[in-house]
Amino acid sequence: MDVETFVVPPLENNVYLVYDAATRHGVLIDTALAGTKVLPRIRELGITLTHILNTHGHADHVADNVSIAKETGAKVGIHEADAYRLEKVAKEPRWYISKPIAPSKADVVLKEGTVVEVGSIALRVLHTPGHTEGSVCFYAPEAGYLFTGDTLMRGTFGFTNGPGGSPAMIFQSLRRLYELPPETKVFPGHGRPTRVADEAWIANLRYAAPH
Ligand SMILES: [Zn+2]
Ligand SMILES: [Zn+2]
Repeated sequence: MDVETFVVPPLENNVYLVYDAATRHGVLIDTALAGTKVLPRIRELGITLTHILNTHGHADHVADNVSIAKETGAKVGIHEADAYRLEKVAKEPRWYISKPIAPSKADVVLKEGTVVEVGSIALRVLHTPGHTEGSVCFYAPEAGYLFTGDTLMRGTFGFTNGPGGSPAMIFQSLRRLYELPPETKVFPGHGRPTRVADEAWIANLRYAAPH
């Protein structure tokens, strides 16, 4: 299993090209505005892109979904609870995205436990709500790789005060991720990679329910 990282606009997003070198099948984890960088590389490697997998439906992560899907024939997968955002982001311009986002629909609706096969690689969907209601992580247990979007980043986690966000839920999600094998390599939606073992702050998270 090979992973190539592209750090791209609009918000220094990480887009990951995950592929099986033997079968030349691959998936793209999030698109952001990676089209101009990623498409030539996919062609160069001779990869058949089967899926675009969104960690969640925020505009910065899905901006190039439509153009990359059109160019490659890849199917767009997003968790069922965030699927509505693919149309929503097209109606709500963001100052940090200079071009309009094309609306789209999910081709594949992901749920907890969905397995996406990429050649000999199995990517398992972990539903980890909190940053948004339909945020997911993609877990490749054999490789020990975890793609976390904005749920878990090096030393921190994504904001929980947007629509669909919940501090109580992200704390639960983070605790769940912290139970994965300590050597698991974490590929976040922004910033440098880390390992589960290096995110020990999660063990000390306390959520005081409002009363
Ligand atoms: Zn986000
Ligand atoms: Zn983000």
